[in-house]
Amino acid sequence: MNRLIVNDAACIGCGECIEICPFGALSLQADKAVVNDNCALCGACVSHCAYNALTLHKSSQHGTPHPDSWRGVWVFGEMIDGVLQPVVYELIGEGRKLADVAREQLCVVIFGNDTDDVCDEVLGYPVDRVLQIDAPDFSVYEPGLVSAALTALIQKYKPSVMLAGATAIGRELMPRVATFCHTGLTADCTELAIGSDRLLEQTRPAFGGNIMARILCPHHRPQMATVRHKVFRPALARSATSPRGVVERVVLPAGWEPAPSARLTRTAFQKLVGEVNLAEADVVVCGGIGMGKPENFKLLEELAALLGGTVAATRAAVDRGWMPHERQVGQTGRTVAPGLYIACGISGAVQHVVGMRASQKIVAVNHDPEAPIFNEATVGIVGDSVQVVSEWIRQLKACGGERS
Ligand SMILES: Cc1cc2nc3c(=O)[nH]c(=O)nc-3n(C[C@H](O)[C@H](O)[C@H](O)COP(=O)(O)OP(=O)(O)OC[C@H]3O[C@@H](n4cnc5c(N)ncnc54)[C@H](O)[C@@H]3O)c2cc1C
Repeated sequence: MNRLIVNDAACIGCGECIEICPFGALSLQADKAVVNDNCALCGACVSHCAYNALTLHKSSQHGTPHPDSWRGVWVFGEMIDGVLQPVVYELIGEGRKLADVAREQLCVVIFGNDTDDVCDEVLGYPVDRVLQIDAPDFSVYEPGLVSAALTALIQKYKPSVMLAGATAIGRELMPRVATFCHTGLTADCTELAIGSDRLLEQTRPAFGGNIMARILCPHHRPQMATVRHKVFRPALARSATSPRGVVERVVLPAGWEPAPSARLTRTAFQKLVGEVNLAEADVVVCGGIGMGKPENFKLLEELAALLGGTVAATRAAVDRGWMPHERQVGQTGRTVAPGLYIACGISGAVQHVVGMRASQKIVAVNHDPEAPIFNEATVGIVGDSVQVVSEWIRQLKACGGERS
C-alpha cells in the first residue's frame, strides 16, 4: 500500500511540512509530524523537508518486490561483431564507483556466441561478476531477442541499477527493456551518483542544455540509465592484488523467448546502426551552410581522411540534402565527443552546439567574427571555410598527410 512515512529520528518538529501540505494531512504530536488520512501522497512535504524526515513509500506495481530488495549494478556488455564496445569500459569504471558506494556487486552482462574470451577480458577489470549468455542465437545482436532475454534476467536477478551505452544499440535496446520491466529510463546521462538512500541520481542536460536535470526513479526497479561514449573515463585494469570476478554461465528462464513478431531481422538492424559511427570518431570534420554547396563537402571528406576522421553536418546542411541525416550532429542528430572537432561554416546554434560541445578541442572557421561558434571554440579562424580547408589539405599533403 502507498503511504507517507515519518522518520521520527530525523523529524525535529519544525512544522514546515504542515504549512506546505495543501491537504491538511500533517499535524504535530509530541513534536513529531503525524500523517492523517487526508494525505494524497503528492510528495510536496517530502521534497520540502530539509531533514529528510519524510518518505513516500510506494508499493511496487506489477507484483514486483519492494525496491529495497533489488541489489547490484549491471552494465550491458555491448558487442559488435564479437568486439566489446569502448563505452562498456567506461560504464565499468562508473559502475564500479556506484557499486562501491551502494556496497553492491558490479556485474557485466554479455550476450553472444563463443564469448569465453570476451568474458575473460572483462574479468581483467574491477567487476565482481560476468553473466554470460552464450548461444548461437546471440551471435548477431538482435533487439527483439536481447531485450526479451535481458528482461528475463532482470526479473530473475533483480539488479538495482542497469547501465548501457547511449549508442545506436543502447538507445534501441534500453527503452524496450525499461518498458518490459515497467520502470523508467534516463537517456544520455552525463553524471551518475548513488545518494545516501541508495537511489541512483541521474543527471542529464535538459531544455537544449540550458539546465541540468537530476532524475530519480524511487519506486521502480531497475533504475535504468544510458550514458554517451566518452562521458566517463574508461575503467583501469584490475590491480594484481584485487580479487578477480567470476563468470556465471546463465541459462535463460523458461518462456523468455519473444513472440516472432517482436523480432527484427538483421537487415533492419544493420540499417539502424548504419555504417557511420560518429560517436566513436576521434576526429570529426563538420560542415554547415557556410560550405556554400554540397560539392564542397568533398573537401571536408578529404580533410577528414587525412586526419583519420569522419565527416558530419549541421541540420541546415542535412535539410538541404547536402549530407544524409545519420551524419547530423546536434539535438536532433548525433552527439559526438571527439578529441578534435572542426566546425566549418557553422554558425553555432544551440541545437547544434549541444551535440558537440563535449569535444576536447574545437576548431571553428567562419567568416563572421561574431559567429556564436567562436564562443565554443578552442581555436577560431575568421576566414572563408573553403579556402581554409583547401589550405589545410594542401599543407597536410605536403607533410605526407600525417596527422598534426
Ligand atoms: C527543434 C530543433 C532542433 C534542431 N536540431 C539541430 C541539430 O540536431 N543539429 C543542427 O546542426 N541544427 C539543428 N537545428 C537547427 C539549428 O537551429 C540551426 O538552424 C543550424 O544548426 C544552422 O546550421 P548552420 O550553422 O549550417 O547554418 P547557418 O546558421 O545558416 O550558419 C552558417 C554559418 O556559415 C557562415 N558562413 C557563410 N559563408 C561562409 C564562408 N564562405 N566561410 C565561412 N563561414 C561562412 C555564416 O557566417 C554562418 O555563421 C535544430 C533546430 C530546431 C528548432
